[in-house]
Amino acid sequence: METRDGEVLHADLVVNASGRNSQFSRMFAELGPIRDTKERAEAGFVYYARHYRDSGNGLPEATRWPLIHQETVTAGTLPGDNGTWSLILVASSRDQDLRALREVDAWDRAIELFPEYAHWARHGEPLTGVQVMSAGQTRRRDLVADGLPVVTGLLAVGDAWATTNTTFGLGLSMSLVQGALLRDAIDTVDVVDHVKLGLAFAESLETTAAPYYRALADWDTHRLAEIDSVLKGERYESADPAWLVIRALDAAKMSHPDLVRALADVGSMLEPRRARPGQTRPHRPDHEPGRRRLPLSRPRTVPPRTAGRHRLTVRATTGSTPNWIRRPDAG
Ligand SMILES: Cc1cc2nc3c(=O)[nH]c(=O)nc-3n(C[C@H](O)[C@H](O)[C@H](O)COP(=O)(O)OP(=O)(O)OC[C@H]3O[C@@H](n4cnc5c(N)ncnc54)[C@H](O)[C@@H]3O)c2cc1C
Repeated sequence: METRDGEVLHADLVVNASGRNSQFSRMFAELGPIRDTKERAEAGFVYYARHYRDSGNGLPEATRWPLIHQETVTAGTLPGDNGTWSLILVASSRDQDLRALREVDAWDRAIELFPEYAHWARHGEPLTGVQVMSAGQTRRRDLVADGLPVVTGLLAVGDAWATTNTTFGLGLSMSLVQGALLRDAIDTVDVVDHVKLGLAFAESLETTAAPYYRALADWDTHRLAEIDSVLKGERYESADPAWLVIRALDAAKMSHPDLVRALADVGSMLEPRRARPGQTRPHRPDHEPGRRRLPLSRPRTVPPRTAGRHRLTVRATTGSTPNWIRRPDAG
């Protein structure tokens, strides 16, 4: 690689982990077809957010579920660190009327319509007025096209590969899973066999992370269409079983512990998501659903190759304790 200052760096492999605004696909545009889903979206989601801090009364009472999707608005609670928290109202960018949510008074009245969350606005001290921002683009950039790497010696992980609707808070999990997939690919394929490594990594992304990406991209499409219908005074009808199931599961989640656990497992990437028929190549049997865990929680069996080098290892813990990551030399 050559840096902006003209320094030439040699490496067996370059990993692009430069995030959602990664310039790599633009830099490699002349090489050919990097499959970039980026399109000028007609509509997206807009956040209207307020942030609060503990004013001596402690944190607000926890909510039963952090997101509620109403007709044209989604409301969400976001606990922060240092005694802070946020509340978001999410609307379609096409919803002109809801632009009034920029005003604190309107926003405060709107949050009162969500009794499950309103106490989060009354509790504590507001840190901000209403902050308005785009919920970000759902976008993926593939470095393999027509069965071959578009560029060799370069792989992309995290947001540099794909970004999803930030409302669902899956970005960090997606990135960690991809880091673990990359680790596994490097463990099984010689790092200088660039074509084989690129294909192996792309394959593991396709079977493990891509179904999540597609499910969230499809959710966005349905949700925006649903909001459009409501704005026209119509009922949104869809025959897509994935949309119908996720909506039914969301509505019924608090009625049975198994349902809420199922939704939480999928929503936290603790369960593999099934690719939808026709959307991807057939699954390998070991990617079929069941209680098989995603790669982050798979026990490590391969020892670190280079002593003293900071290498992520991932250990699975049992029961309800979250999985955690540690460095081998961190004790
Ligand atoms: C508003 C918002 C809310 C979100 N909320 C959540 C949430 O609640 N939960 C969740 O899991 N995820 C959330 N996400 C998504 C999450 O932040 C990302 O998915 C995650 O940070 C991706 O990690 P990454 O390492 O791929 O990229 P990043 O965290 O973006 O890291 C990329 C790094 O590369 C650096 N960089 C870029 N270009 C260069 C360069 N040329 N040279 C050197 N360094 C460079 C950047 O400065 C940055 O530090 C949210 C995202 C947004 C925008």
